[in-house]
Amino acid sequence: MKPFTYVAQSPRVVFGAGSLARLPEELDRLGLRRALVLSTPGQRALADRVAALLGDRAAGVFAGAVMHVPHEAVLRAREAARAAGADSAVAVGGGSTTGLGKAIALASGLPIVAVPTTYAGSEMTPIYGITEGGMKKTGREAKVLPRAVVYDPELTLGVPAHLSITSGINAIAHAAEGLYSADGNPVMDLMALEGIAAFAQSLPAIRSNPRDLEARSQALYGAWLCGTVLGNVGMALHHKLCHTLGGSFNLPHAETHTIVLPHALAYNAPAAPEAMARIARALGAGDAAQGVFELAANNGAPTALRDIGLREQDVDRACELALQNQYPNPRPLEAEGLRALLRDAYEGRRPRAS
Ligand code: NAD
Repeated sequence: MKPFTYVAQSPRVVFGAGSLARLPEELDRLGLRRALVLSTPGQRALADRVAALLGDRAAGVFAGAVMHVPHEAVLRAREAARAAGADSAVAVGGGSTTGLGKAIALASGLPIVAVPTTYAGSEMTPIYGITEGGMKKTGREAKVLPRAVVYDPELTLGVPAHLSITSGINAIAHAAEGLYSADGNPVMDLMALEGIAAFAQSLPAIRSNPRDLEARSQALYGAWLCGTVLGNVGMALHHKLCHTLGGSFNLPHAETHTIVLPHALAYNAPAAPEAMARIARALGAGDAAQGVFELAANNGAPTALRDIGLREQDVDRACELALQNQYPNPRPLEAEGLRALLRDAYEGRRPRAS
């Protein structure tokens, strides 16, 4: 058996349909009296509902969260928290809103409570990211990890089917890379396998009926598990590639993960056969890379980077950027193999057989 180090690190988690109603008591448990409620402009109505639920525990609503957490939005949110005399923030939304909460916590140390409404998983990690001058800087800080997370599947019933599928495959990516992580451990492996299986079962059901509460619950359960893996073990090639593509070419986050994952798995397959066999079993497929590709393609998700805004001339540049830094990955980073991977993802081909 491979040696490992295991440290338990998790916010308190409250999970279940209708559990948003427990948010006030979660703030009380933490001794929080004036929370600034954060959301994107599109989720303002939900943020207002949360503020009403919190009553005088709410210091106001800041509905200015933006994709990739731009520095200007962070400055505005920090000022809003200061002006409102907030002693905490409640982030209601996807990874962009949770990311804004983390950016507030990074500067002020204010505690964050998260109410996730997508499957991105940021609420379970101490990783923050802020974009300034076209570059997304990320780091790890214990103080940005939310103190409590309330997972209410009812809040996800309205997530459009296409965002549900890509957000779910984004979560699968955390689990899949966790299974071949250089610093993985058996507890995270169990969570990763359970998380992948939860999505493999629930995503097709959500596609056919986005208001299926049982499928929504299973998917959000998967998001919790996969997010926990992301927060606890190091990621590899797939996450680095997606970070480069998102940061340098401004591609949308969840779609990029969905398109790249099958090809990153195919690239790593010869060097991580055991992890691939376990991923395939969790997916209920014969092969990990083909299984993820089919989960995306059969459920209407994009499969080609050219369809989400990458230009042909960007492929070589992305490859150069990906080769700039070495990091732990099952298979060494080789220029020719990476170029083939990116070309396949650009064209939307099936992943190569290992
Ligand atoms: P997102 O938060 O940008 O949300 C996408 C869109 O969906 C937004 O317009 C949002 O308002 C809308 N939306 C969210 N929930 C909805 C709902 N229930 N119903 C209807 N619309 C809804 O996207 P995301 O994929 O959740 O997060 C992506 C971001 O999170 C990226 O910036 C990524 O880097 C970051 N992220 C960070 C970590 C981390 O650990 N730090 C982990 C995962 C993702």
